[in-house]
Amino acid sequence: MSYTDEVYDRVVAQNPGEPEFHQAVKEVLDSLKVVIDANEEKYRSLSILERLVEPERIISFRVPWVDDKGVVQVNKGYRVQFNSAIGPYKGGLRFHPSVNQSILKFLGFEQIFKNSLTGLPIGGGKGGSNFDPKGKSDREVMAFCQSFMTELSKYIGADRDVPAGDIGVGGREIGYLYGQYKRNRDLYEGVLTGKGLTWGGSLVRTQATGYGVVYILNEMMKAHNDEIAGKTAIVTGSGNVAIYAVEKITQFGATVVAMCDSNGYIYDPNGIKLDVVKQIKEVERGRIKEYADRVEGAEYHEGVGIWNIKCDIYLPCATQNELGLDAVKTLVANGTKYIAEGANMPTTMEATEYVQANGVIFMPGKAANAGGVATSALEMSQNSMRLSWTAEEVDEKLHGIMVNIFKKVDEASTRYGMKDNYVVGANIAGFEKVVDAMMAQGIV
Ligand code: NDP
Repeated sequence: MSYTDEVYDRVVAQNPGEPEFHQAVKEVLDSLKVVIDANEEKYRSLSILERLVEPERIISFRVPWVDDKGVVQVNKGYRVQFNSAIGPYKGGLRFHPSVNQSILKFLGFEQIFKNSLTGLPIGGGKGGSNFDPKGKSDREVMAFCQSFMTELSKYIGADRDVPAGDIGVGGREIGYLYGQYKRNRDLYEGVLTGKGLTWGGSLVRTQATGYGVVYILNEMMKAHNDEIAGKTAIVTGSGNVAIYAVEKITQFGATVVAMCDSNGYIYDPNGIKLDVVKQIKEVERGRIKEYADRVEGAEYHEGVGIWNIKCDIYLPCATQNELGLDAVKTLVANGTKYIAEGANMPTTMEATEYVQANGVIFMPGKAANAGGVATSALEMSQNSMRLSWTAEEVDEKLHGIMVNIFKKVDEASTRYGMKDNYVVGANIAGFEKVVDAMMAQGIV
């Protein structure tokens, strides 16, 4: 049995009931086979893969808080500190009822390679809670965030572990979390990213993940003698990543005809009016359904099925495993040519294999959505220097980072004889740097 298969079996046996984590490990190990096989003796003797798949530390804690009716609520809180070989742990916090250890381990594992690809000194981590901010009052969200941070603040720090936002954690939550950290630790330091602009945040951080997806899509299309201008696109989700992916791809000249939330999707053949989506989602915290009530000619469809609409470019920017085999069969049949993942692991393994086998050019999330964490690292740099860069400076750096990620991913896939297989390229390029650092640092 190959070393990668052995380690995968061990992961499944030792981490029962964690399907998302198994899936993320399988995708990475399968991609790494060529590299591992070529260096098997060296890696085996150091148990590199066994160490890579085991988080350095998982912190799990109780989060008690009081709701508006005076009832005591209890949620689960976690931080997975996965790998610090190339820098302090870095990765978002997710607040969503589905959060559990499996999901956070999959996200933390992916984050190691993504952070490595940015070229910046950041390790991999992820955290969150099964708390659902939807439908909660501001006071309830604050009470939850304060209780969560009271515990988490014991384990993080500007040179130790620097969380950011993810699903359910935006500017409001980061604000409450930061306030409580400062109060508990009496330190004004860059311990969280995604902060407000008047208290240590970086310009363009809000837009960074979505913009980055489109910057790398642009490189990928140029490499195939094509361009974004004039194309029809679908962007799933209507949260932070989706909104700014729509903004940038529209600036590049594409027409976005559909977006969604977890209830249903909107179709606007005239092109999505992003100011209306921003008003509904960023200001009113409403449902995407309301778009069809406000925009002439737009339709709302309850439930799933956004992929039935014809498009050239599909950007899944909602959540894990949102894009399955049946959906991609429809996309391929309708002529979709490009997929770049804004979300983490939104495409199932079978769906990924299907699109790759059917001529769709596919960029995986760990490369495509790395612009968010890269700009978080730029926020950390600005905090350390006590300086703020202009929006143009940050955007230029973000653009440069995404262009470089494309080059690294393209180069690694070509070097191993799998040109255009960007899944393999991203995993190999991310892995090489982390493993060099792990080997240099001894058995730790
Ligand atoms: P948000 O919470 O801002 O938005 C998530 C969006 O996805 C919401 O519109 C949500 O709808 C929708 N959604 C969630 N589940 C489903 C579903 N099953 N079907 C359809 N729509 C769904 O999160 P982000 O935009 O920050 O994150 C989106 C993805 O991008 C996640 O995978 C995240 O890990 C990844 N990511 C985020 C980064 C960031 O900087 N924010 C960085 C890198 C990756 P609803 O409101 O109904 O729940």
